[in-house]
Amino acid sequence: MEGYLKDEMAVLELHKASNVLYPNESILVHQQSWTNEFLMKSMESSRASESISTQVDDVLNYPFKGDLDRLAHRRNIEQYCTDNTRTLKSSFRCSSFGSEDLLKLAAADFNFCQSVHQKELNQLMSWLKEYKLEDMRLAKVKMGYCYFSAAATYYDPELSDARISWAKHSLLTSLIDDFYDIFGTAEEHLNLLELFERWDVNGPRAEFCTEEVKTFYWALHSAICETVENAFAWQGRNVMDHVVELWVDVLRTMLEEAEWSRTNTLPTLDEYMRNGYISFALGPIVLPSLYMVGPQLPDEVAKGPEVHHLFKVMSTCGRLLNDCRSFQREAEEGISNAVSLRMSQGIDTAEEAIEEIKGLIDEQTKELLRMVLDERNTSAVPKECRELFWKMNKVLHMVYKKEDTYNSTKLVQIAESVIKEPISLSVMDSRVI
Ligand SMILES: [Mg+2]
Repeated sequence: MEGYLKDEMAVLELHKASNVLYPNESILVHQQSWTNEFLMKSMESSRASESISTQVDDVLNYPFKGDLDRLAHRRNIEQYCTDNTRTLKSSFRCSSFGSEDLLKLAAADFNFCQSVHQKELNQLMSWLKEYKLEDMRLAKVKMGYCYFSAAATYYDPELSDARISWAKHSLLTSLIDDFYDIFGTAEEHLNLLELFERWDVNGPRAEFCTEEVKTFYWALHSAICETVENAFAWQGRNVMDHVVELWVDVLRTMLEEAEWSRTNTLPTLDEYMRNGYISFALGPIVLPSLYMVGPQLPDEVAKGPEVHHLFKVMSTCGRLLNDCRSFQREAEEGISNAVSLRMSQGIDTAEEAIEEIKGLIDEQTKELLRMVLDERNTSAVPKECRELFWKMNKVLHMVYKKEDTYNSTKLVQIAESVIKEPISLSVMDSRVI
């Protein structure tokens, strides 16, 4: 590197490139490690210019695997420099660099998409009210986050169907997870599962044992029917069986975990993970939305081994990230998770178990990226669909970066920057110029 070591911008670019990692790329891991150290040191010594400092800060705070597209777009717009004349041997300025017109267009587009997002979020809040979910445990706050993860993933105005499906199923998986983990009874758990095992689009084929089960049933019924109707418009076929099956799988695995907890049964880590990647419940969130992003997705591909492998790797990452973050709280609530189970198999401290699990998360993340980018061009799954698995993985890495609760102030700010606060060019003018 010799002389280039004084050039923060070159090291920054090398660092960004070294973050795009496949399995077994030890040279890139080495590059990642020393460039990271170099950039941290250069920030501490404050030798770098203000513009480079901001970029380094962003790259270190929002690593590639946890940086949502929409947040990156916002930063790019806000940091866009309209005074970008480069002085080399002579002064050079390209008309497409530093263009004020491009800046205005980008900000107007961001704000327009955001206005669409706000209308959709209002519709979702009305849906919560209509289906009597709004007074349930933190349902309104959770809906805000669920919608944020959808809007940060599919921001184009025409992808409204995918956003709504993602947000509704995401909220329902979160509320129903609490229902199975914490506050429902064994009878209620079984009742809700049976209602979906004996699914009939015209209404329940079994009695509701409590009002709570009835509320969940009708909210889920409405979300499933709407998703299927919208998917029909994109795919020209009925995907009801698939969507219901995804929910039945999730409810079965949640019931299994509730049984373990009720009977004080300690599963092996293998048993726990076989169940746990499905009970993490990304299936009904991500898989139906594959039908609503554009390409035709035949049944044999949507239910085939490749989609399942993408789903399994993404969900394993999510389950493990969640377990590392929520280990303390779940231990107090008497719920076993991957960290406590690893400790029961001979690892002494939680820190060591978490360290080991983080290694697994890293490996799974690299494997997922390899499948999503598919450089050998062997995939039967359309690129737009494969990308959704990576985008969900980014959401998971971001959300579980520091806390597992919905109370993080930083997360509130991040969500608001995507769905609530427009970009103001006048504020930027006073700062940039
Ligand atoms: Mg659970």
